[in-house]
Amino acid sequence: MLKRMGQKFECTCGKVHQVPDVEFVIERWSSKHLSGFFTDATYLVDENTIKLVDVPDSRTLKLEGKPRVLATMENVERVLSQFNGKHIVSIGSGSLTDIAKCAAHLKGAKFSSFPTAPSVDGYTSSIAAISINGEKTTLQATTPNKVVIDPKILIKAPSELVKAGIGDICAKFTARLDWKLSNLVTGESICDLVWEELKVTFEKVLMKVESILKKDEKTILELMRALLISGLNITVVGNSRPASGAEHLISHSFEMYHELRGETPMYHGLQVAIGTFITMKAYKMIFENIELRKMNIKDEERFSILKRLFKERIATKFMRTYERKTRVDQIELERVKEVLYPTYVQFHKKIESVLEQIGVKELLKSYDPELIQKITLVANTIRDRYTILDLLDELSLLKDFSSKIFEL
Ligand SMILES: [Zn+2]
Ligand SMILES: [Zn+2]
Repeated sequence: MLKRMGQKFECTCGKVHQVPDVEFVIERWSSKHLSGFFTDATYLVDENTIKLVDVPDSRTLKLEGKPRVLATMENVERVLSQFNGKHIVSIGSGSLTDIAKCAAHLKGAKFSSFPTAPSVDGYTSSIAAISINGEKTTLQATTPNKVVIDPKILIKAPSELVKAGIGDICAKFTARLDWKLSNLVTGESICDLVWEELKVTFEKVLMKVESILKKDEKTILELMRALLISGLNITVVGNSRPASGAEHLISHSFEMYHELRGETPMYHGLQVAIGTFITMKAYKMIFENIELRKMNIKDEERFSILKRLFKERIATKFMRTYERKTRVDQIELERVKEVLYPTYVQFHKKIESVLEQIGVKELLKSYDPELIQKITLVANTIRDRYTILDLLDELSLLKDFSSKIFEL
């Protein structure tokens, strides 16, 4: 995608896609003279990121949050009430970027980004994940005009954010499997070029996790590159399908669970790493023919779990989304395996070891296994997206699977 900026191309899905014309600048110490890259910009910062850059006080909006700023509608509104300009530049990682590009969209302003960590693929995507009254919602956002990257800033990013970036990259594997699955069983259209292009950098990142974790500049930039391409894929396709499958439904569920309790979730990519771990287990079960007991989940049970996790108002909405989901009359499991196997076998061992390297087992230990089970059981209700969780659900295997994640 980086080589096709501003161009149109015919995709394997049959559509002609437009690649946005984003300008990328990679320059060491650009943080020291950031305002030289933007005209008439207002800079959105928080108390950590303001220390990293040199921007005029009179053009800076600062958001506060303990222990960190979250991507909520209140914060978007806070920005909208103070921002009267034509161009907003986020100086930060995932949450600040989501707030800025969503505010830019609502205001009809330009948006640019100065990423302070290789932590998420949202810097180049045209959607934002914003919590509205506790519900994680995907909103339309402005595609960046310019992305300025300072390698010297990225290598100073906290290790947890670097691990989060690796987690958000691992998710592209399960997202691709889920997309192929949906294409096969529901007929959803699928784009192959976006995956082919991402795969090259994706593989490099998986091979170099050790040096990324040591914050070697060259490989940190490789991670950033993979994240930028993944975000562009979302923009090109027009929805988050290329970047997000069951693992993101699980991570969004955890994020909502925490936010509704006034707690701060883990960084997005770390919650996603947990989601990827669980989703990989679901695929493992299919590919390794692991026997599970068939058990149906009654609607009352599903609703009562949703209510306990997310409150009644949100639970009712999710039940409606669930009822409207695509159902497949007959699933030919052998055919599913045949079509998905080449992708699965190419990456699953590597992803398993990368998740281990970023500490997914320790992250999982911070949760009560019962909560992990409950979230796995209802994560497929929060969006209309078809994933492996729906396949298990339709095969009446989801309930037994969710109780055996750690035995598989
Ligand atoms: Zn993500
Ligand atoms: Zn396409």
